[in-house]
Amino acid sequence: MSERVIPLIDQRLVSVPARVPSVATAATGLLSDTRGRPLRDLRISVTDRCNFRCSYCMPKSIFDKDYPYLPHSALLSFEEITRVARQFVAHGVQKIRLTGGEPLLRKNLEILIEQLAALRTVEGQPLDITLTTNGSLLTRKANALKASGLQRVTVSLDGLDDTIFRAMNDVDFPVADVLDGIAAAQAAGLGPIKINMVVKRGTNDDQILPMARHFKGSGIVLRFIEYMDVGATNGWRMDEVLPSAEVVQRIHRELPLVQLGASAPGETAERWGYADGTGEIGVISSVTQAFCGDCNRARLSTEGQLYLCLFASQGHDLRQLIRGDATDEQLSSAIASIWQGRGDRYSELRASLPPDAGQGKRRVEMSYIGG
Ligand code: SF4
Repeated sequence: MSERVIPLIDQRLVSVPARVPSVATAATGLLSDTRGRPLRDLRISVTDRCNFRCSYCMPKSIFDKDYPYLPHSALLSFEEITRVARQFVAHGVQKIRLTGGEPLLRKNLEILIEQLAALRTVEGQPLDITLTTNGSLLTRKANALKASGLQRVTVSLDGLDDTIFRAMNDVDFPVADVLDGIAAAQAAGLGPIKINMVVKRGTNDDQILPMARHFKGSGIVLRFIEYMDVGATNGWRMDEVLPSAEVVQRIHRELPLVQLGASAPGETAERWGYADGTGEIGVISSVTQAFCGDCNRARLSTEGQLYLCLFASQGHDLRQLIRGDATDEQLSSAIASIWQGRGDRYSELRASLPPDAGQGKRRVEMSYIGG
């Protein structure tokens, strides 16, 4: 097995100042990018820290005690996050997903959720506020999160076998505690709960059927995510990707499945229902079945950098506007002009890119902008 070379470039530093256009853009909720994709989904990373070290996201060899995590002063405050979120909502955002790192590590997160829960869409409806977590703190926090206005949670869980799970989170965290967290979230009414399992061929693909059997009939939607070449530190290789088509086949052989339609535009998961009506699964196939065509997601890093794609190499610095003397109208117009100039479609291009594509322009880390 050849030694993996993991380049380390602090991608967080590669951003351009967000420019305030000379002509203001009115917020109509109908903003779209160069491919006609509306802005509907905002993912907000509230911390760059995590208590797990999943190798496909935050490998321990890189994200160790000497890694330069962001100082607290660099993070957007809850008031700053809510102010910028308000502008996105006015441009059409209907769903906010809180991410990290591990978002539940951010102290008093409930305060932010309360502030975001007070916002209304352009149609005057409550926002769909959800959160992606590794589940390690859910048992303690589920009720308070629900009470603060959080509607749903997505829990990352890469296997049921305790040895495999501990190896994948690389901090020896027991699977039983995450399962307890999921039960606590279900009891608190944070549903429908979704489970995200990243499938890595040769590492945890033998967990596909045990996971399907375990969550079938539970009301929880299990999604299988193809292992992705996110960031620049996980040593990604195509031969470790198990195509979603094979995941579906493996399950279908034992638990017959029927294909379902998308439940919302821009949905990342392809839905499959159990033929006996006892629930559904999803597959998220960024590598083998790109879904950039209706990607309506923007990502805000924990220090206010706006990214237009999970595989972006450059952010747009909104914090300098937020902390400068920009008005809300100027901040709103800057966001509009950035989105209107968007043409990202990395997953569509991946297969056609030469292996050394982007040399020197590394992709941003998923732990920094959220999945
Ligand atoms: S690769 Fe980028 S543009 Fe395509 S679906 Fe993912 S985030 Fe959206």
